Amino acid sequence: MRCLLFACLLLGALPSFALDRFHVEGYTLPNGLQLVLKPGSERGHVAIRLVVGVGLDDFSCADKELPHLLEHLLFSGIDATGEGGLEERMQALGGEWNAYTSNADTTFVIEAPAKNQRKVLDLLLALLTQTRIDDNAINVAKQVVEREDGGHYSHLQRWLDRQDLGHTASNQLAVELGLKCPERAQVDHLTREQLDKVRKAWYAPNNMTLIVVGELDRLLPAYLERAYGALVAVEPTEHLPLPQIQASAAHERTLSHGFVGGGAKLHWLVPEPALEDQHDEAFDVLKDYLDWALYRQLRLAHGLSYGPSAEREVFGGVGFMSLNADLEREDVPAAEQVLDELKANLLKNGLDATTFARLKQAAIARQTWAVQGNSALADYYWSALGDYEDGHFTNPAEALQEVTLAEANKAMRALLLQPGYLRIEKPLMSYDQLMWAIAGVLGLIVLMLLGWRLRHRTL
Ligand SMILES: [Zn+2]
Repeated sequence: MRCLLFACLLLGALPSFALDRFHVEGYTLPNGLQLVLKPGSERGHVAIRLVVGVGLDDFSCADKELPHLLEHLLFSGIDATGEGGLEERMQALGGEWNAYTSNADTTFVIEAPAKNQRKVLDLLLALLTQTRIDDNAINVAKQVVEREDGGHYSHLQRWLDRQDLGHTASNQLAVELGLKCPERAQVDHLTREQLDKVRKAWYAPNNMTLIVVGELDRLLPAYLERAYGALVAVEPTEHLPLPQIQASAAHERTLSHGFVGGGAKLHWLVPEPALEDQHDEAFDVLKDYLDWALYRQLRLAHGLSYGPSAEREVFGGVGFMSLNADLEREDVPAAEQVLDELKANLLKNGLDATTFARLKQAAIARQTWAVQGNSALADYYWSALGDYEDGHFTNPAEALQEVTLAEANKAMRALLLQPGYLRIEKPLMSYDQLMWAIAGVLGLIVLMLLGWRLRHRTL
């Protein structure tokens, strides 16, 4: 009965309803499967995202590749025709599919013609319920996953990772602080029993969200209730707590990247403090402000960096703000000074009110055109599931609107008063140093030859 009601709602979708991207037809089936359905503006097409609530963060360092390996294995095939036969079925329906494993989830991503949406969903359901995983498939998938992660993990690479030379600056800092695993996870030792366990514990309807955006079939709600409603719920598994900062890291470090070159990168990274009653969007606006301040100072005023930027990044349970600049090797001290002056000036005078207002308005305006089309909308819902409740996604424009100058100043002070972590990435030697080294070696050879000749003459 309930599905009929939703069907009527979908059919009678008013244009304003379709335009309001924060309002969706969302409900949960009795087995716990969360559905997010949205009529899209483009006809003839549907974008489907099946989000399974299991990701890399749910496993210890040694077993981190388990959900990723399982994701690959689920494409092994549903009958004797195997992987190829499965792909042929999708081709015959005119759709395309892929899957991604992230820290937080495993997501199946499908684009398909609207007229085949129920058949495509049938195929996805078959993949979830009928895939047989044998040892041969496991070995093939292990090779693929290993190749995706950059080929076989050699002893040299492992040693370099241990020396912190194989990571980018922010990753390396996350390792130092105990927020990230020091080595790349291996797949060789993972067993079929472990994979079966992950599949049983996490691939259940009460741990999934199905998002469908586009020209929705009028029978879709009834179909979903019948087909996906047959999946059996399991006892939920607790997620592992996200790692917090566990160790201290050097305030300043130079990281060698590559052997010879004239460039360098400067990063100043700082953990975002948790502020009481504060919008997370305050840090978004602050990021835009710092991004623009860096551009004005490092590029326009001093010409030291072509594309300086401010970034927000999350490692484990900790968010970081970073100020970054690509530089010439010899400009590193000058850039450090500009950065120090920029921070001191902001702490002394606060954010400029006019610039703040302009950048805040730009961020709000961006929300009106940031998500275009069915696929982008489906991806948006996937990324914003944390802000979803009862058919509503939080409108970021409203939250941005509420960020005041005083609030942004408070966030800025809490951020910039910390010492943070300075990381300089540069190659081992500059071209000049390499030239001097070569000249030195040549000089040594000439001296040795001269010495040898002198000795022979005197003898
Ligand atoms: Zn993969």
